[in-house]
Amino acid sequence: MSKVEQKLIDILIIGAGPAGALAASLLNKAGIDVLVVEKQTFPRFSIGESLLPQLMVFLEEAGMTEIIEEANYQLKNGAAFRKKGQYSEFNFEQKFSAGPGTTFQVKRADFDDKLAKCAMAQGVNIYFNHEVNKIEELEDGCIVDVMDENNEHYQVACNFILDASGFGRVLPRLLDLELPSTFPMRQSIFCHLKDNIGTSSFDRNKILISVNPFNKEVWYWLIPFSDGTSSIGVVAKPEYFDNIAGDAKTKLLTCIEQEPGLKELLANAKPINEVQEISGYSSNVKTLFGKNFALLGNAGEFLDPVFSSGVTIAFKSASLAAALLIKRNSGEGVCWETEYSVPLMKGVDTFRHFVEAWYDGRLQDIIFYENSTKDIKEMISSILAGYAWDEENPYVSKAKRRLNILAKICKA
Ligand SMILES: Cc1cc2nc3c(=O)[nH]c(=O)nc-3n(C[C@H](O)[C@H](O)[C@H](O)COP(=O)(O)OP(=O)(O)OC[C@H]3O[C@@H](n4cnc5c(N)ncnc54)[C@H](O)[C@@H]3O)c2cc1C
Repeated sequence: MSKVEQKLIDILIIGAGPAGALAASLLNKAGIDVLVVEKQTFPRFSIGESLLPQLMVFLEEAGMTEIIEEANYQLKNGAAFRKKGQYSEFNFEQKFSAGPGTTFQVKRADFDDKLAKCAMAQGVNIYFNHEVNKIEELEDGCIVDVMDENNEHYQVACNFILDASGFGRVLPRLLDLELPSTFPMRQSIFCHLKDNIGTSSFDRNKILISVNPFNKEVWYWLIPFSDGTSSIGVVAKPEYFDNIAGDAKTKLLTCIEQEPGLKELLANAKPINEVQEISGYSSNVKTLFGKNFALLGNAGEFLDPVFSSGVTIAFKSASLAAALLIKRNSGEGVCWETEYSVPLMKGVDTFRHFVEAWYDGRLQDIIFYENSTKDIKEMISSILAGYAWDEENPYVSKAKRRLNILAKICKA
């Protein structure tokens, strides 16, 4: 494409990950002219493999439920936790909020590819291997510079941009919107394993979160897939890993050795891909919207991986933003602050209180408390299942206060 070529489009979406694909599908269904520009070719690896039941509602909204139900993914019906020999589990079908109680654990290369293909089958245009590099904000829209697979540049003139570029954080970088996260820097080291888990006591329908016995801020995920493989990862501050000699694989194996339950479970496991590391992923922004743009999913704020909330928040943001663009298209006025930012942040803030309480130990005391009442367990289960926007739940409407009180009771 030549440099002078210019495309005219109503909505440009940057990135075809979960947030971008879902938003594109919803807008396209409403007859809105939308183009998705994606930097990579799919399928491509992405971290974030354990989904939450709440997001099934958004797949349904986009008419995408079949792709996940027909894919033979590993069913997920809850979360299990282990710390110093204690075990606690939450069944997501026993929860306070109404809505689906099960979901799936997915290899994201495949899941994201299926989402994107489904959006394309519905009529969405996605340009893979095309990268957004520059934008110019105008009074009534934007001009976006895109580089295609041959390193040729072209321009897209659009009325509105949805930035769904994930950790690419395109608009936060280009428009100087980035803010440091309030969470300390953390690092994850992870890989996929042929897990060879023989014991029938291991519940493959649940993510297993294990806490390091020597440091409560160090934790592991074990996410089983349906094909006998699992995703294993450990999360800690970088200085924790710096004190372990060796490369990323050695550090991961050393950390697994430190947790006896995990060590036993993975005694016959074999890594099947390269051990990877990622750090500094928590991020924040000055604003989630501007006159002609909104930030979706990880392009906005990203908290922490511990409650597997990333894809759910990405879908929620896409659903809210698409509804507003549809409203705007029909000539109605839209307030991005009260109709997008505030409602989205309600759930993000619920997760924020839970993440803070996880790392300072309050939530761990709650999770491993043996005398929990059924009602309270179901309210906590709801949040862990992703229903972080349900203000009927006191652990949403008064999250901080309720967590503080409950933690005191559980510790006493
Ligand atoms: C260690 C770790 C573990 C996690 N575990 C979980 C989990 O178990 N469950 C969960 O729900 N979440 C998890 N997450 C979070 C999850 O990975 C993200 O929240 C989720 O992928 C966000 O989706 P998204 O659509 O916003 O962005 P992404 O999935 O990152 O998609 C963004 C897309 O934008 C494209 N892009 C980037 N830059 C450009 C550009 N310049 N031009 C065009 N395209 C571009 C990228 O190629 C990418 O395909 C985890 C995160 C971390 C760090």
